[in-house]
Amino acid sequence: MTSTASDPIVSVRKLHKSFDKLEVLKGIDLDVRRGEVVVVLGPSGSGKSTMLRCINFLETFQSGTITVDGRPVGYEAGDHRRPLGEARNAKVREHVGMVFQSYNLFPHRTVIENVMMGPVKVKKVARALAREKGMALLAKVGMDHKADAYPGQLSGGQQQRVAIARSLAMEPSVMLFDEVTSALDPELVGEVLKVMRGLAQEGMTMIVVTHEMGFARQVADRVVFMDGGVIVEEGAPGDIMAAPKTERFGNFLSRNL
Ligand code: ADP
Ligand code: MG
Repeated sequence: MTSTASDPIVSVRKLHKSFDKLEVLKGIDLDVRRGEVVVVLGPSGSGKSTMLRCINFLETFQSGTITVDGRPVGYEAGDHRRPLGEARNAKVREHVGMVFQSYNLFPHRTVIENVMMGPVKVKKVARALAREKGMALLAKVGMDHKADAYPGQLSGGQQQRVAIARSLAMEPSVMLFDEVTSALDPELVGEVLKVMRGLAQEGMTMIVVTHEMGFARQVADRVVFMDGGVIVEEGAPGDIMAAPKTERFGNFLSRNL
């Protein structure tokens, strides 16, 4: 199978997800092409995190299909009665990097050990090589000077930059960001957004859930607005953020500018 630049890295089709009787995702369709930066906006509770968590199968889902790099996520293609099993799910997750609002670094490991751990343990990369590549990634996020520090010695912004480097160490096909700046003091937000902007410019495929409207406007190739478990509206940021087509998105923008 040869892939081309226009193949979607992530493809979500008719995705339905419920928690017991609460239907949270009501038929999501989303394709993300190689190198594309999709920013997902939407009010709290609209299903943004749940959608990201389905993409790397941190959540099961009831119907629909998701593929990453052409590989089915969670279930045999087209058959929800046949779960893939943990080994194949783990394989898919290797290709999906995810950074959350809370920092999730291992507190008793140094910064460089946090970054090396995935490649060494999961990909069986030799420690020396993992360290060398890890240092290069730390330099990319401006954190190489803290390689031997422990997470607790870092600011929230620094921890998020390390968390990004740690995800990148697995050489993912796509990076998912879930409100990675929401818990940060305002003066630390910029340094994290700058790293994400750099990744976008280097051509990383990214799905970014954020409330940072400036980032959406400047960095997104496409903005997706979710509300009530559906994609209400999507388009180029310059188009839809300047002239929302729906009242729901218009109201959201006026509340969040
Ligand atoms: P968002 O990220 O857009 O704020 P979420 O995806 O976190 O929204 O949540 C969507 C809805 O699903 C909310 O009503 C939330 O309460 C519910 N929800 C999320 N996770 C769970 C869970 N583990 N169990 C039950 N309900 C959940
Ligand atoms: Mg969320």
